[in-house]
Amino acid sequence: MTVEIRGKLYEGKAKIVYATDRPDLIVQFFKDDATAFNAQKRGTIVGKGVVNNRMSACLFEVLRSRGVPTHYVATLSEREMLCRRLDIIRIEVIVRNVIAGSLAKRTGVEEGVPVAVPVVELYYKSDELGDPMINDDHVRLLRLATPRELRWIRRTALRVNTVVRPYLARRKLLLVDFKLEFGRAGRRLWLGDEISPDTCRLWDAQSGERLDKDRFRRDLGGVEEAYQEVYRRVVGAGGRGR
Ligand code: 5GP
Repeated sequence: MTVEIRGKLYEGKAKIVYATDRPDLIVQFFKDDATAFNAQKRGTIVGKGVVNNRMSACLFEVLRSRGVPTHYVATLSEREMLCRRLDIIRIEVIVRNVIAGSLAKRTGVEEGVPVAVPVVELYYKSDELGDPMINDDHVRLLRLATPRELRWIRRTALRVNTVVRPYLARRKLLLVDFKLEFGRAGRRLWLGDEISPDTCRLWDAQSGERLDKDRFRRDLGGVEEAYQEVYRRVVGAGGRGR
């Protein structure tokens, strides 16, 4: 598909969104810039944009083949993804299979403990407020989504987990937790944003080594190498298989 890229619509911490000559399509450009703790920590992860673009495309294709509607349309280049234009719902949806990060802090349960039934959490997507956790009543209060939309979002987030977790497990990656964003277009909802080591916790299935953005957040070193390893396992030779 050929589209003409027009002006910048929005520049986020890790991506730039461009308009195109098609009003229903946008381009996501994936940067190497990395931020953490609400942009208090900043840096660069060389090659990250390519990894995140390719891995997201790969997982969006798998999800589409399993009936999950995603905003992904096509890969235009190493860092550019053509996507359906969404009206983004200001909720970050997190699904957790293993205790880690803020859930370990909130509950006092140590990182690495498996969760029997996946935990779904909602956060209000607001940089000014620092993305606070919210519940269904807050979603209604703030009119972020209708009860019907929220039911669909929860069901779809768990469906994403059901598809992506075993897909990554076959590539020796444990999907600890991940963040999703959804949006509206053409009177229905779609999965948006990206699915990458920036938005997921991915641990080596055998050693438990962290192969995600926590290496940057926690100054663990080997950040670029971790992203490349995930790329190799997910996108590399045979990455598009089952
Ligand atoms: P936690 O709440 O433990 O900090 O994060 C849970 C999961 O959601 C992690 O996989 C983390 O990468 C992802 N996540 C949560 N909030 C954000 C965010 O604002 N940006 C990104 N990129 N990922 C997030």
